[in-house]
Amino acid sequence: EAAPHGGAELRPCTGGSGGRSDDQLRVAFQGKKEVETVMCGIVGYIGDQEAVPILIDGLAKLEYRGYDSSGVAVMEGGSIAVRRSVGKLVNLQKSLKEHELKGTIGIGHTRWATHGAPNTENAHPHQAGRVTLVHNGIIENFAELKAELQAAGHVFESQTDTEVVAHLIDQALQAG
Ligand code: GLU
Repeated sequence: EAAPHGGAELRPCTGGSGGRSDDQLRVAFQGKKEVETVMCGIVGYIGDQEAVPILIDGLAKLEYRGYDSSGVAVMEGGSIAVRRSVGKLVNLQKSLKEHELKGTIGIGHTRWATHGAPNTENAHPHQAGRVTLVHNGIIENFAELKAELQAAGHVFESQTDTEVVAHLIDQALQAG
């Protein structure tokens, strides 16, 4: 598979990277012991307020870690609505202005592509059945898992490793 960032070194968010050295991370996360488990680009909200402004605010604070696309999912009534955009967060904000999302439960993501090009269909959140999720990092054995899931009838909409997790959880939910 071609490197999504034109041959740039893969830089999964898990493991504390974001272009920063361990020392810089230690400073950035001073007081927190688990520097190695720092995750980047994920925010969630559940409460009484509108979720979208809080999610966008959270994602803006994570922008320094680097990303190529962003997205949010919000629970609207009984269903979950997703908006995703390539490029800067301002593009997602524009899309959210054109098609407002209203709800008080949501998740947001900034993506640094490792598997699949940095385009809208590969941007998170990813959905499968009842599951909507965001993920930072790499699913090492995604190819085997994807082949198994496809053989079982699951249809994929992206080239990401992440989408296999949505299908796996949905499969488990269906199995009860
Ligand atoms: N591996 C996932 C993808 O390529 C997540 C990348 C990330 O950490 O943002 O979509």
